[in-house]
Amino acid sequence: MRMLLPSALAARLLGAFRQPLLHSLWRGLAPLLYWLRAAFWWPGTGKGQQRVRERAEGRQEEEADGDLPITPTSVNYHFTRQCNYRCGFCFHTAKTSFVLPLEEAKRGLFLLKEAGMEKINFSGGEPFLQDRGEYLGQLVKFCKQELLLPSVSIVSNGSLIREKWFRDYGDYLDILAISCDSFDEEVNVLIGRGQGKKNHVENLQKLRKWCNDYRVAFKINSVINRFNVDEDMNEQIKALNPVRWKVFQCLLIEGENCGDDALREAQRFVISDEEFEEFLERHKGVSCLVPESNQKMKDSYLILDEYMRFLNCRSGRKDPSMSILDVGVEEAIKFSGFDERMFLNRGGKYVWSKADLKLDW
Ligand code: SF4
Repeated sequence: MRMLLPSALAARLLGAFRQPLLHSLWRGLAPLLYWLRAAFWWPGTGKGQQRVRERAEGRQEEEADGDLPITPTSVNYHFTRQCNYRCGFCFHTAKTSFVLPLEEAKRGLFLLKEAGMEKINFSGGEPFLQDRGEYLGQLVKFCKQELLLPSVSIVSNGSLIREKWFRDYGDYLDILAISCDSFDEEVNVLIGRGQGKKNHVENLQKLRKWCNDYRVAFKINSVINRFNVDEDMNEQIKALNPVRWKVFQCLLIEGENCGDDALREAQRFVISDEEFEEFLERHKGVSCLVPESNQKMKDSYLILDEYMRFLNCRSGRKDPSMSILDVGVEEAIKFSGFDERMFLNRGGKYVWSKADLKLDW
């Protein structure tokens, strides 16, 4: 048997259960429905999967010039904008406090899987803030256990993660990326990552150990800006030994960290391309370093906001599509501004499942 329910019927059923009177029934049936769908999943039944297969077989060559429907292979879901930090360059700020009900978020993730999603990254704001990490844990578990996604990852500032979370959900998580912009606590405070008496760097070392203990691949993200551009991080990064060290050039996004309606003014954090190159040159001995200049970041991420709307950054600000919960993935993604070639060029596809990483735990 290839598939128990045709995709369209499954999506309609899921939609019908959004009505309040049917909500409690939905809560009971949802796990069963997802399980049935996942249990009888056959690679290639969803439209996205079919496109991936055709592309691999070279049958869509004529469409390679730009008309090819976009497959949401790797999605960044910023399900909350709330955060306990106040980084001065933040480019996804607390403009709303909205978070989808858990079952609605699961429905959207199911639709994305149907459309070809292989990797989901949960981000924010700070994703561990909502319901003390339980909301995030439930989504991580759902994506690995029910949707069988090859890769489930999180980007967090790391300040709110408890060991209990690893005990409960570590099995379902492939990669945990922790933001760290400096190993000098004073610089962290200048950037806005100060948390009173808590030391961001000591916390990083604790998280590194937990990732090892609970078999989660550990990654570090750093935003290079005016305050850390001259720092030498070679020693500390090598000691922490992440699977990847993503190094971003500080980016201005209108409406988020610059412009009249923004919650931040990040101009004073911006560095030139040359300064960014100098930082990279100083750290060229770190083999896991993955650089992302402003140019590489541009249009190469599929970003979903808290309403599950794709955010189009082509105009230098984040213009939202309709929600995938209202119009479906295929319709909404047309307005995502996503450039699949830029995604591939920046190395967006990599070994992203911990089962394939062959780590020495
Ligand atoms: S930790 Fe991340 S989401 Fe929070 S303020 Fe800093 S950059 Fe923004």
